[in-house]
Amino acid sequence: MKKLIPCILALVLLLGCASQEQKHTATILAMDTVMTLTAYGSQGETALTQAQQLINQLDAQLSLTREDSETNAINGSNGESVTVSATMLELVRQSVALGDSTGGALDVTLTPVIQAWGFIGGDYRVPEPQELADLLERVDYQKISVDTANNTMSLPENMAVSFGAIAKGYTGDLVMEQMKSAGVTSAIVTLGGNVQALGRKPDGSLWNVALQSPFGSDYLGTLEVEDVAVVTSGGYERYFQQEGETYWHIIDPATGYPAKSGLVSVTIVCDSGITADGLSTALFVMGLEDALDYWCTNGGFEAIFVTDDNKVYITPGLEGSFTLEKAYADLPLTVVE
Ligand code: AMP
Ligand code: MG
Repeated sequence: MKKLIPCILALVLLLGCASQEQKHTATILAMDTVMTLTAYGSQGETALTQAQQLINQLDAQLSLTREDSETNAINGSNGESVTVSATMLELVRQSVALGDSTGGALDVTLTPVIQAWGFIGGDYRVPEPQELADLLERVDYQKISVDTANNTMSLPENMAVSFGAIAKGYTGDLVMEQMKSAGVTSAIVTLGGNVQALGRKPDGSLWNVALQSPFGSDYLGTLEVEDVAVVTSGGYERYFQQEGETYWHIIDPATGYPAKSGLVSVTIVCDSGITADGLSTALFVMGLEDALDYWCTNGGFEAIFVTDDNKVYITPGLEGSFTLEKAYADLPLTVVE
């Protein structure tokens, strides 16, 4: 009997570990992208069901293409103050803060310009310079007012918000919060170009996140991470070509034209998904020099920049955790200081 007790204990522990490591996965289509969710452990299945409900709810709430979305209720408010959900209030508050910190490189009121190019709606065309100049009159995130005490916000008439640049990052944050509350300690979600990791893999090792190459349909490299968001913005994600010119979906709010800043992709690694998502878009707009200035001044994140002359720049915190794929091993890689 004395020998049997440790054996039973060991068996119980083993079974406990096995159930802790059980892998649960789900794939859903939301926010115009394919999302894959993986959660480990006994709470994994429930957490994934809840995550899918949350994502579908956020999609319905934030979408610009669904007439009954909360975004469209704001856009149809004709300058009147509107009561919004706590989720929307926080999203708008963070949008404005990111606009401020990036000097307007991220502007969630760019909607009419994005629509004119067809990046919302899919009717691609190159707008006339005068049309863009007129539309830019209706763009300025500083005109959004948020009243957090009363759960209200307002937007001048003729202006419209949309959250294509940050919705997935915000969604990732809310999904990870929910997973943590459900008792999950190891999970990874891929929401289009956004990857968010909770903890480490169940065996204690780091997650390997593959980064899409801006030069082809393969991977540029891999990043070993734990407990962070890894978000990439690239011109290659969405673009159209006309008369030999490529027009992509990341737009410079200062000009109304696709941002040709010399960067072809920007990856941000940081604790917050919404910050990573907002900064990946905004730093793409800024270009390498201003992006590095921003990093030096603000910090709080790591980054990988790829330029249109095939150079790769990484911040020092990623040295050792980022590896270029074999096919790209010859690209000049600089660790910035
Ligand atoms: P992302 O893929 O996160 O870089 O977001 C790009 C999407 O955000 C585009 O498809 C547009 O809908 C929107 N967008 C493009 N440029 C900007 C910008 N400068 N500020 C805010 N949203 C933008
Ligand atoms: Mg973004």
